[in-house]
Amino acid sequence: MSLSLTFLGTSASRPTVERGVSSIALTREGETMLFDCGEGTQRQMMRYGVGFTVGDVFFTHFHTDHYLGALGLLKTLALQGREEPLRLWGPRGAQALFKRAEGLGNEKLTYPLIITEVEPDTPILRKGYSIRPFAVEHRQGAAVGYALVEHERLGRFDPEHAKTLGIPEGPLWGKIHKGESVTLPDGRVIAPSALVGPTRPGRTVVLTGDTRPCAATIQASHQADLLVHEATFGDEEAPRAAETMHSTAREAGTVAQMAKVRTLVLTHFSARYSRDASDLGREAREAFTGELLLAKDGLTVDVPFRDAAGNTTAE
Ligand SMILES: [Zn+2]
Ligand SMILES: [Zn+2]
Repeated sequence: MSLSLTFLGTSASRPTVERGVSSIALTREGETMLFDCGEGTQRQMMRYGVGFTVGDVFFTHFHTDHYLGALGLLKTLALQGREEPLRLWGPRGAQALFKRAEGLGNEKLTYPLIITEVEPDTPILRKGYSIRPFAVEHRQGAAVGYALVEHERLGRFDPEHAKTLGIPEGPLWGKIHKGESVTLPDGRVIAPSALVGPTRPGRTVVLTGDTRPCAATIQASHQADLLVHEATFGDEEAPRAAETMHSTAREAGTVAQMAKVRTLVLTHFSARYSRDASDLGREAREAFTGELLLAKDGLTVDVPFRDAAGNTTAE
């Protein structure tokens, strides 16, 4: 069951020749969702092969570099004759903003728009995973990050051993796998622990949106498989990062280190780093010992399952 992220825009505040503004497509088991939708996102989707069968768009906050692209995307989906609802999620202000956006231009949308304002720490429950918004420190009271947290998976069932024990293949196997003890026709009782291994962790992916380094991010991304953290500035602009409620690459690295995340991806670079963000990488590297990636437009990152020892597993 694949889980991957494609970076559609990685520039802060405004697009540059090399980079569009913020948007990330997350694809999980054939389902695609967007996190932020800056200007030009729909063109980036075409360019990098992200399908328009998006079901959800999650907004971290409403600075224009994170949402202006939604207007064009909504119209394109209507031109395509979309009928399935599109769900838009965002912090306080989402309702008012998108109600207005829906009325721009005279064409009517061909599909329902479902707008929901998220509450930090109130998870959105889905089949197999949840999306947990958490409050970040960027726009007072109205900026969130999101953690996608998969449910634990059942332990591995041992079919060979089941056969050895003389348990017929069929519904009994399913019951045992789901944790029920079963009584065989000959009276033997088989406990699930005889045939099923320990439950296996799901994957966790955390996206901060724009923020100062903060405790909420460390908490949300504790031992996460992947943390996408903004890194607008380098060390030399640390005061500016604090003033504008952004992070330096080093601060992002420190957050990732404290949270013990496996992989950190830096994004949302100030225009001066657009061509070459290697300084940011070097500064983050001094704070973070895990796997470190610098996002660029079109970068796709796969997030594999891992066993308790940290080795990748097929499922
Ligand atoms: Zn931004
Ligand atoms: Zn912002």
